[in-house]
Amino acid sequence: MNVHVTNPHGYCMGVISAIDMAKATKKQFPDRPVVVLGMLVHNREVVELLAKQGIETLQDPEKSLEALLLSVDPKAIVIFTAHGHDRKLEKIARERGIEFRDATCVKVSKNMDIIEAALKDGHDVLYIGKRNHPETTAALSLGKRVFLLDKDIPFDYEKVKDPSPLVVNQTTLSFLELAHIHADITAHLPDARVLDEICSATRLRQQAVLDIPEDVEAIFIVGSPESANTEKLAEVARLSHPRARVIKIKTVADIDSRPYSSSSKVAVASGASTPLETTENVIKLLKSI
Ligand code: SF4
Repeated sequence: MNVHVTNPHGYCMGVISAIDMAKATKKQFPDRPVVVLGMLVHNREVVELLAKQGIETLQDPEKSLEALLLSVDPKAIVIFTAHGHDRKLEKIARERGIEFRDATCVKVSKNMDIIEAALKDGHDVLYIGKRNHPETTAALSLGKRVFLLDKDIPFDYEKVKDPSPLVVNQTTLSFLELAHIHADITAHLPDARVLDEICSATRLRQQAVLDIPEDVEAIFIVGSPESANTEKLAEVARLSHPRARVIKIKTVADIDSRPYSSSSKVAVASGASTPLETTENVIKLLKSI
């Protein structure tokens, strides 16, 4: 089978750095519990890999991160995830005497710094993101004048009192949808100061999907359902290649090879938190058909 592989694939630098930090922490404290508050990066295989190395992921859909942190053994070292976190979690950790490490990606940290500076200058901030995504939660925790603009929820512009608010966005949005959202904002707030903070890892992967040949039958998007940047790759693929089937898979085990033959033409793209080996296994199987 003819398989077009998009590049880059494999971990982005933020994911590499978060995994390295978790491993280094366990190495430094082999006799103490090391726990990650939520998924370190949005990939289940990474969570399993960490578990094998004695690094536990604390997750419970019934409980908030705050509640989970309140139940952590005070001897544990807590790691905050790559996507950022609500600032109050650091306060709770300090109050409980819990040692913590912050694996927030530098691109996310930069975004938070920009928001803080705008608030300090007395401006409102419009944050374009996905409700309940950890990066969005982190941004909203910075102040009451940070307003979430989620494209799936109607936005009330009346509540923005600042005529020139700062507009920033979650690092893992689709650049195709961001352009439309920016146009809508400036139609309502012509003096808004608009920044595009999609990270380079997300942007390059989306551009690579746009560049997939038009005549592919199917595009396989490899990554976990929790991964925002993987989901956006699928959205870009659907918009840019309307004739291709866009198939989201977690691993090679999810592939149904029956519709394909040796003359089929397909493409493979993967999210920034998908292990290289996982994508390579997918490519290997497809090439063998
Ligand atoms: S996708 Fe972008 S923001 Fe997220 S961890 Fe990777 S580099 Fe950082």
